[in-house]
Amino acid sequence: MTGGGRGIGRAIVDALAEDAWVAAVDLGFPHGAGAAQRHAEVDVTDSAAVERAVSEVTRERGGLDWVVCAAGITRDHVSWKMPDADWQSVIDVNLTGVFNTARAVAPHLRKSTAGRLVFVGSINGLRGKFGQANYAAAKAGLVGLARTLALELARDGVTVNVVAPGFIDTPMTENLPEPLRAATVARTPLGRVGRPEEVAAAVRFLCSGESGFITGTVLPVDGGQLLDGVQA
Ligand code: NAD
Repeated sequence: MTGGGRGIGRAIVDALAEDAWVAAVDLGFPHGAGAAQRHAEVDVTDSAAVERAVSEVTRERGGLDWVVCAAGITRDHVSWKMPDADWQSVIDVNLTGVFNTARAVAPHLRKSTAGRLVFVGSINGLRGKFGQANYAAAKAGLVGLARTLALELARDGVTVNVVAPGFIDTPMTENLPEPLRAATVARTPLGRVGRPEEVAAAVRFLCSGESGFITGTVLPVDGGQLLDGVQA
């Protein structure tokens, strides 16, 4: 589990730990590691560090079955004012970090009899978002990555899917100005922000045996926000 230290990642750790032994990686764990049995400080943009972390877990546990990538950052600017560094860091964490993880775990998932790979994307990768060219491009890239991995890993029975949250209450969104928050809620048919546990429940389903015939899909968890503009 990447990005397991807080927010949606932490909620996923706690949900998966109800059925499984869980190892979490993140840049840090200032609030502890929740229900994770192992945790380590790993930067997902460092492919060698990711490889080492995966080796340690698979050596200790003899393999792995489910891998969830939730590490992510935002650095918002309108496109024509986007600094190189903020374009690059968002692509590095949100897309290359997921690729680094998928490449490291793929050989182990192929040996599992219940291999599951789940990426936490975003509805903004499906529809675009003002001020988030870097983030939307990275999250859209995740969908192409997941679909390709779904094809490559299907012969080994491994499924690969994306969960695409809408507006979820986490440290990532807590500093959003109140008018923006209210406007987002107003455009959400269910009329509220989501909870990290609601994203975690979707991830848990996609890791479960019940989802074994679902691969290469994107599951929005967005209170209907993608329907914005659709006439009732
Ligand atoms: P968050 O900021 O609370 O948590 C993100 C976690 O990722 C943090 O613990 C952070 O330390 C970790 N992380 C960042 N860079 C990392 C790196 N290089 N290596 C390892 N870990 C790193 O955010 P969140 O809201 O819980 O978001 C989790 C995921 O959900 C992200 O991928 C985000 O893009 C996605 N998402 C969030 C929302 C939302 O509304 N909160 C909506 C759509 C998608």
